[in-house]
Amino acid sequence: MRIIRAAKVLTGRPGEVIEEGEVLIDGSKIVSVGPPGSAGGEGEVVELPGHTVLPGLVDAHVHLGFDAKVDPVTRRSAESDRHLLLRMAENARKLLSAGVTTARDLGGRGFLDLALRDAIEEGLTVGPHLVAATRPITVTGGHCWYMGGEADDEPAIRRVARENLRAGADCLKVMASGGQMTPGAPPSWVPQYSTEQLRVVVEEAATRGKGVAAHAHASASIRSSVEAGVTTIEHCTFFTPSGHQYDAKLADLVADSGTYVCPTVHGVFWRMREVHGPEMLDKWLHGVASMREVGVRLIAGTDAGFGLAGIDNRTDGFVGGLEVFAMAGHTNAEIIELATVRAADACGVGTLTGSLEAGKRADLIAVAGDPLKRLSDLRNLALVLVSGRSVTQAGVDTVTSSVG
Ligand SMILES: [Zn+2]
Repeated sequence: MRIIRAAKVLTGRPGEVIEEGEVLIDGSKIVSVGPPGSAGGEGEVVELPGHTVLPGLVDAHVHLGFDAKVDPVTRRSAESDRHLLLRMAENARKLLSAGVTTARDLGGRGFLDLALRDAIEEGLTVGPHLVAATRPITVTGGHCWYMGGEADDEPAIRRVARENLRAGADCLKVMASGGQMTPGAPPSWVPQYSTEQLRVVVEEAATRGKGVAAHAHASASIRSSVEAGVTTIEHCTFFTPSGHQYDAKLADLVADSGTYVCPTVHGVFWRMREVHGPEMLDKWLHGVASMREVGVRLIAGTDAGFGLAGIDNRTDGFVGGLEVFAMAGHTNAEIIELATVRAADACGVGTLTGSLEAGKRADLIAVAGDPLKRLSDLRNLALVLVSGRSVTQAGVDTVTSSVG
């Protein structure tokens, strides 16, 4: 048993702060969370004066199989699966170094995400718990077709969905609209699938109790995704043939449906704004702010791995993304919620992690300072526990192994 005692404990439940709180941990699980003395006298005590303990962070949208410096299509032919898997392990380690203890990988090739997920759980390598989508379902030649999930009609969609689930996917990813980064694929504002076709993906996922993440830039695809009943909408950029056009009525529909939206807010926002100019990115940021105002359930996710025009959206830039949420009008308490408990719920692991509660996994971080006052204090990591295993102390450089 271990008792972690800190100046502040944020349980992850909105607004819940325990001053001089204690978290009692037994092995991989949390036994209790409460005020001073609540944990009893049993066990090794870790004293963290001046620190805040909070749930491990959740990145709901990563691609561990990429780094943005190399075009993924080129990489597809240039890099062997063996080498790629090692890169993914390194990206997972970096993600953990930012305090991310759970991540949803929304697309890669060769089911390598499943191999990595299982290796992390076995303690063979260090990383966050992974929720893996495997091959995104997309049309022939469509967005990210090179990941191997092409399907054009209902029987083919069922086939790819079932193959992913058979391999062990934790959720399904579908490319409801086109996107950037795939030469020759439909552009962002073009839907790839109808509502009926998206419903097939949702149905197949539901047979195993899994959720669906729908990549949807196009406004028409955002609408279809809501109508089909997907769990999360990725990007949600309100693209039309004439560019970004925030649609207030559609945002209301998303909010009313309770569908989670991961607007893939990342730390390289400012760099991209410099390179690509302010117009598109400012409209996008305004869209995020507007969705917050109407009560859309936003979650944190960085799309780490993907960047645009060679801008490296690294897996350890998570907190930089949270700072962009602040630019979109979120309070620090809201940001911590959307990066912990709400993101865990959206990824289908809310009963296991995402908040500090008895019975949940001991996935937590401790930071020097108080992120409710200064969000950047989330960078001052003093402790990261993944299922109770201490994987880093005083920075990532000491990480050597998750075993022991
Ligand atoms: Zn993505």
